[in-house]
Amino acid sequence: MTLRRKIAIIIAASIGGLLLVIYLLARVILLASFEHLEQDDTRRNLERAVNALGEELDHLTATTTDWAYWDDTYTFIQGENADYVEANLIDEVFVNLSLNLALYVDPSGKIVFSKAFDLDHEQEIPLSAGLNNYLSPDGLLLSNADSSSLRRGIIVLDDGPMLVVARPILTSAKQGPSGGTLIFGYRLDEAWIARLAESNRVSLAMRLWDDRHLSADFRIVRTLLSGQSPTVIRTLGDNSIAGYTLITDINGHPALILRADFPRRIYAHGWSTLTYFMILMLGLLVFVGVVLLLLLEKTVLAKTQMGTLLEHSSDVIILTHPDGTIKRVNPAFKRMFNGMAQHFDGQPLSVLFDAKLDPPLTDILHTVVEKREGQQVDVSVQNKAQNQVEASMVLSPIWRGNGRVSEVFCSLRDITAQKRLEEQLRKTLAREMELNDLKSRLISIVSHELRTPLATIQLANEALAEYADRLTDERKQEKRYQIKSAIQRMVFLLEDIVTLNRAESGKLKLELLPFDLVSLCQTIVDNIRVSIRHNLTFSLSNDDACSEVCMDQRLVQLIVSNLLSNAAKYSPPGHTVYLDLKCEGEESVIQVRDEGIGIPPEEQRRLFEPFFRAGNVGAVTGTGLGLTIVKQAVEAHKGTITFESQIGVGTTFTLRIPNKVKGGCE
Ligand code: ATP
Ligand code: MG
Repeated sequence: MTLRRKIAIIIAASIGGLLLVIYLLARVILLASFEHLEQDDTRRNLERAVNALGEELDHLTATTTDWAYWDDTYTFIQGENADYVEANLIDEVFVNLSLNLALYVDPSGKIVFSKAFDLDHEQEIPLSAGLNNYLSPDGLLLSNADSSSLRRGIIVLDDGPMLVVARPILTSAKQGPSGGTLIFGYRLDEAWIARLAESNRVSLAMRLWDDRHLSADFRIVRTLLSGQSPTVIRTLGDNSIAGYTLITDINGHPALILRADFPRRIYAHGWSTLTYFMILMLGLLVFVGVVLLLLLEKTVLAKTQMGTLLEHSSDVIILTHPDGTIKRVNPAFKRMFNGMAQHFDGQPLSVLFDAKLDPPLTDILHTVVEKREGQQVDVSVQNKAQNQVEASMVLSPIWRGNGRVSEVFCSLRDITAQKRLEEQLRKTLAREMELNDLKSRLISIVSHELRTPLATIQLANEALAEYADRLTDERKQEKRYQIKSAIQRMVFLLEDIVTLNRAESGKLKLELLPFDLVSLCQTIVDNIRVSIRHNLTFSLSNDDACSEVCMDQRLVQLIVSNLLSNAAKYSPPGHTVYLDLKCEGEESVIQVRDEGIGIPPEEQRRLFEPFFRAGNVGAVTGTGLGLTIVKQAVEAHKGTITFESQIGVGTTFTLRIPNKVKGGCE
């Protein structure tokens, strides 16, 4: 897995973890406060419903008070107002006052008048059976402590709960003594609950405390409600919340449970707030993650990857700015060039290379930076051990998101061994070709050079065998001479080849012995003089010659004979061939000069190559081996050979050979 991917995964996991923590905290803090708010709101709404009940009781109290403190009522309870009932307690009055019950009780506890009224059907109904439980003389309703006493509250009858208010009956001026007790009642039936719910815009339900058929939630709540905690708030699923309150009867006993249901708007609002908050956080964290990744990419990742590449590459790597100044190098660079790589910081890349590159480095960098194309160039650099190193340098552009090249990545690979091998191969190949060429030239020349003397021998031999009786002694002598010189020519040729072969294979061993160079040269000149056919003059000067030398006599003879033979071969009749011997210090200087055809200037450089013959030799025969052997033999003596030549003027060969060649004659 790449470092980039690992970091991306770590950032993503961190964002995920952070989001989870934020979600949990937000849920605990935010939703808890929303739930708290919701409970407060529910409690307030529940109080509103309970207050409505109180208002109802206040209204009933006002009506009861009006009627209790009234002269007509006072006289009626004392039995003096017979028309009272007819005039005041008719059905319409019950409807107008919203009364379900009217009880007139005299001070002895006797009910003077009672009427139960069904407001829904607007008709009188029988008194509820349970009413008597509240009408005992010492009961709360009938005990008038003083003239202004007020007893009011809820009573639970067989047919349901009822609000009741009891007032002592007084005159309109609130004078007593009390004529009895007036009790008005108002039933808390389903219709009343529905009206209350509608006016308060809540869903309300009311149950008797000791109802045996309570639903599950009321049953649970009944166990939780008490005088100390008269209100309980409970959620009814995700969509609604309910507040329950205990309502006691006139005696302070639990009588009713009132429930108000509300939709969970605040809670839902809390959830949507939490959702928006989390979406916002997600967006924010993703943004932070992306920015972080980009920053890491720019500042750390790229450098880390580049650093790893630089650290572990066995190739020399140089990072440069686009202008070619060195920015950073790797340990391989330090190993090759210098431990103090800082010296190179800010230096142009070209300081590393000895020779100017072709094409110039600026052109190469331009192509890399402008065209964003990699380039390869072979360079020669000097390492810290001052050795020349051949290297292949590859320059690659590095660009970032904006497409502009920010760095150039140069890697140098040491190809010295490869170059050497190539050079060696090239030389071997050239040598092979040269040898091949030599071989074919040798075969062609040797075959040609052997065929001619062999033909001469054959012809001379046939003439001697077949026409011996007809030939004069002189002709016979001539034929024998022809055979002898042809054989000698072949022997020389073979000797030349053997000598050359030895020289080329380094087996040319010198047999160093002291001898007189002047007399050797004299003998050679004499031999040449008799062997040539045409008319030439030979001049030997030896006035300043060294007397005795220590050289390989056979090879010196070969050298001088070849040079004199050439001078004779390539000189027209009537001219002179000069052999000058001199002694200069420790060296013998042998000079062979002729007035012959000369050597064309353009061919002079090839003169010592085996089988080379100049283009102006004409019909003069030869193998082209003579000078090659001469050069090898001179060099075997640690001597030198030079020449000067001019077409039509003549040629001069100058040899310088140590008089006493090292390793012999001591
Ligand atoms: P051989 O092997 O029989 O000597 P060669 O004389 O042709 O044959 P070299 O002696 O090696 O071969 O000489 C090489 C060539 O150099 C000659 O063929 C000739 O073209 C040229 N050359 C050598 N000496 C002279 C000279 N004195 N004057 C003019 N040309 C010369
Ligand atoms: Mg020759």
